[in-house]
Amino acid sequence: MKKILISGGAGYIGSHTVQALSKAGYGPVVLDSLITGHRKAVSKNISFYQGDIADDGLVSNIIKKENVSAAIHFAARSLVGESVQKPDLYFEENVAKTNRFMSTLLKCGVNKVVFSSTAATYGNPEVTPIAEESGTEPINPYGASKLMIEQSLYWLEQAYGLKWVALRYFNAAGAALDGSLGEDHTTETHLIPLILKTALGHREAISILGTDYNTPDGTCIRDYIHVLDLAEAHIRALEALDQGVACGAYNVGTGAGYSVREVVNMAKRVTGMDIPVVEAHRRAGDPDVLVAKVEKIQKTLGWQARYSDLETIIKTAWEWHQKHPHGYEK
Ligand code: UDP
Repeated sequence: MKKILISGGAGYIGSHTVQALSKAGYGPVVLDSLITGHRKAVSKNISFYQGDIADDGLVSNIIKKENVSAAIHFAARSLVGESVQKPDLYFEENVAKTNRFMSTLLKCGVNKVVFSSTAATYGNPEVTPIAEESGTEPINPYGASKLMIEQSLYWLEQAYGLKWVALRYFNAAGAALDGSLGEDHTTETHLIPLILKTALGHREAISILGTDYNTPDGTCIRDYIHVLDLAEAHIRALEALDQGVACGAYNVGTGAGYSVREVVNMAKRVTGMDIPVVEAHRRAGDPDVLVAKVEKIQKTLGWQARYSDLETIIKTAWEWHQKHPHGYEK
């Protein structure tokens, strides 16, 4: 059984990937600080270590004890707004700690890494759908930190033969089909969970942040990708690294976009509730349209989205929110 070290495996995308790896016959080994992750998001029969990716002694011991052969690196800070307020925190936690983590992996002979990157590396795209070779000009420290890590992986490849794939996620959404895993952030800023919390009566209304964008209905368009499809992309990337695929970055999205109003309307239909909506001002830093070009991952990794129609995304997320109205811990 191939043992894969999963940093951040107790987080939203990490935990779904751990479950998918386990179902696919891999042996995931989770390392998570639990600063934002949830212990309950990782099944008791999976190896779990609480700690920091920059702890060389801990990471080395895990690799030896568990006989780890590759890593998927999710652990990171991921709040755009916080990154603007505290850029130093993001460059320390994401860039500096990843650098130490990579040094440990390489020192211990682990030279295959799948990295959790983001469409925020592109900034304000000039053309949509966005292709991987488009310019990367992040407009916040979160996106900048992820791009710096991608660049560092390239140089580690040149110097030490690291084999890496970076997956640039568009808008991760949805939950496990059986409602066992889902999205639970202490500070929730994402559209779909906020709409569903409104449906549950935890919030008075969902704010549509800007109705004067350059889109058909005036609200932002995003490419929502089901977390199970994201999880599958990591497995395909691991397999491709084993088969000697060229290192580089891949978009993970559907190639189709939905406006904020379309998402709200679908949530009203799925929940059967009249979710109160208020129209509010734009949020800083939101581009009009963010939609992925997905030919590269489809052709090279043989990956295809299966669960990412908007209805399935919202149905699975709604199932999770109903089963866990206060998240994992309560
Ligand atoms: N959005 C909104 N109301 C909210 C939260 C988000 O209208 O309460 C919009 C936001 O402006 C963006 C889209 O929903 O256009 C998706 O935002 P989210 O924070 O989920 O993901 P992002 O695109 O920022 O990664």
